[in-house]
Amino acid sequence: MTQLLPTAPAVLQARRLCRVYPVGRGPFRRPALLRALDEVSLEVAAGRTTAVVGESGCGKSTLARLVAMIETPSAGALEIDGIDALAARGSRRRDLRAAVQMVFQNPYASLDPRKNVRRLVEEPLLIQGRLTRAERHEAVAAMLQQVGLRAGHALRYPHQLSGGERQRVAIARALVLRPRLVVADEPTSALDLSVQAQVLNLLLDLQLAADVAYLLISHDLPLVRLIADAVLVLYLGRTAEQGAADAIFERPLHPYTRALLAAGPRLEAMAPRRQLPPPGEPPSPLEPPPGCAFHPRCRYATAICAVQRPLLRPLAGRLVACHHAEVI
Ligand code: SF4
Repeated sequence: MTQLLPTAPAVLQARRLCRVYPVGRGPFRRPALLRALDEVSLEVAAGRTTAVVGESGCGKSTLARLVAMIETPSAGALEIDGIDALAARGSRRRDLRAAVQMVFQNPYASLDPRKNVRRLVEEPLLIQGRLTRAERHEAVAAMLQQVGLRAGHALRYPHQLSGGERQRVAIARALVLRPRLVVADEPTSALDLSVQAQVLNLLLDLQLAADVAYLLISHDLPLVRLIADAVLVLYLGRTAEQGAADAIFERPLHPYTRALLAAGPRLEAMAPRRQLPPPGEPPSPLEPPPGCAFHPRCRYATAICAVQRPLLRPLAGRLVACHHAEVI
């Protein structure tokens, strides 16, 4: 795979990840195969952020679940800190799962309402089983302070917290094990605009303090532009464009990336959120168009685009999958 950023050693290396789901089509027909992710590769370096962007159904959340080891890929390789995560078993697998934590989109749904904040943040430490009770409580208190919550929050329940406070608890839960990589799936999209900036600053501060890497799943391009070092653009489960964030935001080469950027709100206007999709509807992932999957929606499509799938190839300091990227 092409090295996209000359940085620290990779915490995450994913190579040609595929995820295929069988989809039932009735009693007398074989299930169809839905290729949710098709040969996607990426790296995330320590202390860096890689963002995955694309419309709904592009494979972003599938990729997040594979990297967080919630699901197993149908094919491909996944390494965390150089260790083969797919082959790891027993305590080695537990250690890898602790090294990769997830922050979900909706802090309202991701926290158990029956547990207070101390218990919620303590839980990952309890499962790991390495600390005494006193050490756990000390670690929880330090973590709550780090995410900007007061000691008094420890005994509150999720319904007694604001949306921003709940997301801080979710972040504390994710970071209390000192992970190497956090997979953040739309971490600010369920929050009020005023709270989004606070949570964003918190994530950046914690990254600086702990050198943790982020895999950010987002449709929020202004947010991505603010915090990502590298960007992966997915379309219908395939990589459309991939490279350093500066290069892609300054000069996107794939027509789909261009359409996404043209439709999104300007960076300086963090509000209002007004993102429009590229023209037309994304095709069904059950029956992707032949050739370039974007060709039915692409204003630059030519005859070859309808029959030949473009290879992902290096061009102008990034990878792009388009037959005509040089001349667009
Ligand atoms: Fe458009 Fe053709 Fe490029 Fe696909 S390969 S993005 S259809 S120009």
